[in-house]
Amino acid sequence: MDNKPLPLFSLTSDMAYQVLPDLYCYPNQIVNICCVENSKKANDWVLVDTGMPKSADSIIKAIEERFGENSKPKAIVLTHGHFDHVGAVVDLVEEWDVPVYAHEAELPFLTGESSYPEPDGSVEGGLVAKMSPMFPNEPVDLGNHVKPLPSDGTVPHLPDWRWIHTPGHTPGHISLFRDEDRALIAGDAFVTVKQESLYKVITQHKEINGPPRYLTTDWEAARDSVQNLEALNPSVAVTGHGKPVYGKELSDGLKRLVQDFDRIAIPDYGHYVNRKR
Ligand SMILES: [Zn+2]
Ligand SMILES: [Zn+2]
Repeated sequence: MDNKPLPLFSLTSDMAYQVLPDLYCYPNQIVNICCVENSKKANDWVLVDTGMPKSADSIIKAIEERFGENSKPKAIVLTHGHFDHVGAVVDLVEEWDVPVYAHEAELPFLTGESSYPEPDGSVEGGLVAKMSPMFPNEPVDLGNHVKPLPSDGTVPHLPDWRWIHTPGHTPGHISLFRDEDRALIAGDAFVTVKQESLYKVITQHKEINGPPRYLTTDWEAARDSVQNLEALNPSVAVTGHGKPVYGKELSDGLKRLVQDFDRIAIPDYGHYVNRKR
């Protein structure tokens, strides 16, 4: 990375908005960050994912616009450890001194122990896929600031939410779900933009798609994860990339994705594709 910010932006980046009264979304360049409020305790909230590298200042600014000066979350939850979801995590932990939670299987990628496989620049799909080899794949090192999520599925500081293991995109990928209103924070288990296409990333053209292709290594697990999320019949989904999708557009899109996963999600070719033809 050489400390250079990646020159990837969408036309709507940096325009934060409320998805629900207690769910605030900040699109940081090309990736979404969420602030989720604790319904049981005023002023308690949790940050989900931490955006692109070198973005701590803009994240703090977006948070202060919403929650006031010097606001900080009770904790940070990571859906997974890819560079565009942990970009600012080390800086934010230094600034706030709050715990970070992730799935146990993701911890090696968050403690400097393992690197993710190289992004697959050969994968079918578009220009972002071709650019992906310049994306960093070396892990961040959060040391003992990162802890495993509770094994009972609860989410610290968010009593109404539970985490769901949704592997495939990465081994320890998780999504967050609230049963009461069926709100879903999906991470990259599926996304609402064709993340491989530079044009569609810039314009944020909405379409429900499988996980970003250049970084997904286990397509069978990814399929199961999408099926599990579809079965929850979410009413709204915020995904790692793209705009939130609600209601029928979401249920129709997810149903289509599950029924036609091979064609919609799995690339025709790529290093991590093992197609039986
Ligand atoms: Zn990812
Ligand atoms: Zn992502």
